Amino acid sequence: MAYSEEQIVIIGGGPAGLTAALYAARADLKPLVIVGPTWGGLLQQTTEVENFPGYPNGVMGPEMMMDLRLQAERFGARIREDWAGSVMLSPSGDEHHLVNVGADQIAAEALIVALGADHRRLGVAGEIELMGRGVSYCATCDAAFFRGKHVVVIGGGDSAMEEAALVARFAERVTLVHRRSGFRASAIMLDRIRQNPRIEFLAPYQVEEFVAGDAGKLAKLRLRHSENGSTLHLPAEGAFVAIGHVPQSSLLASQVALDDDGYVVVNGRTSRTSVPGVFAAGDVVDKTYRQAVTAAGLGCQAALDATRYLESKALVI
Ligand code: NAP
Repeated sequence: MAYSEEQIVIIGGGPAGLTAALYAARADLKPLVIVGPTWGGLLQQTTEVENFPGYPNGVMGPEMMMDLRLQAERFGARIREDWAGSVMLSPSGDEHHLVNVGADQIAAEALIVALGADHRRLGVAGEIELMGRGVSYCATCDAAFFRGKHVVVIGGGDSAMEEAALVARFAERVTLVHRRSGFRASAIMLDRIRQNPRIEFLAPYQVEEFVAGDAGKLAKLRLRHSENGSTLHLPAEGAFVAIGHVPQSSLLASQVALDDDGYVVVNGRTSRTSVPGVFAAGDVVDKTYRQAVTAAGLGCQAALDATRYLESKALVI
């Protein structure tokens, strides 16, 4: 096992991690950024981003992430595309925090965790078994497989609207299934979907089961009316689950304070976690806003907090 020491390590390659990298690099801290092989966070799976300030004509998610990566690298951030397998934090912050990556152990004086969030699962029968056989969480990745088919999109937020719009470019017909009659999605996105002639709404219905056909692929969904309990079988060849996200904080479990939903708890308006020298940013912290621009802002904040922490440590020594 190779051992090395770093002033600052950042785990996470989404807008929070890469913005933290940019700021830490500009503070001459030469950050090492562990980003995972599919770096870029959920924006890597997005098509057009229309609401990130500074792009009047929109920008493709992966392109924006590449810009951000190049910007951080320009100032000296070192990016390693690998999984952080485990961490061993120093509870008092007096020792280095250890990050295991492959066969290497990296010791950091300050650590920023920007681990992001992953797609929430419905947790119903057939969901796991039919993943990749009709059930998907990423229209950008899989929508093209359903050209000319009937596809269901599940959810009532902006993600579901975005997925439905994308799927409707390929599918012949899209049914948007939501568990309530009211929608959480923003008015502009909801209106756009309502005007799409290929998309119809089915609410209030909950998915109870994804049912396979003879070929072992998704054939239909068993739905239950949320109010009167009646059952409906809806034939479909594809289903996109878009019901929000869960924070990816398992790496930190039992070492850093997490709330009941698994989000990292930070001190007030800072990025300071329960462990001195460990800072958190982005969707792993934020259950309220969860925007690319807010994640980037939190990444900036974490880098500034970490810089001040390192400066104060140097003063003490
Ligand atoms: P969200 O706003 O939390 O919406 C999740 C949806 O899934 C809700 O409608 C919820 O139903 C439903 N849901 C949750 N658990 C469910 C379950 N077990 N069974 C059935 N339905 C379930 O999540 P999101 O759509 O991913 O959006 C997250 C944030 O990202 C929001 O702030 C959103 O504005 C933002 N976003 C923005 C854009 C954009 O502007 N381009 C695109 C995507 C996301 P209930 O409503 O009944 O709770």
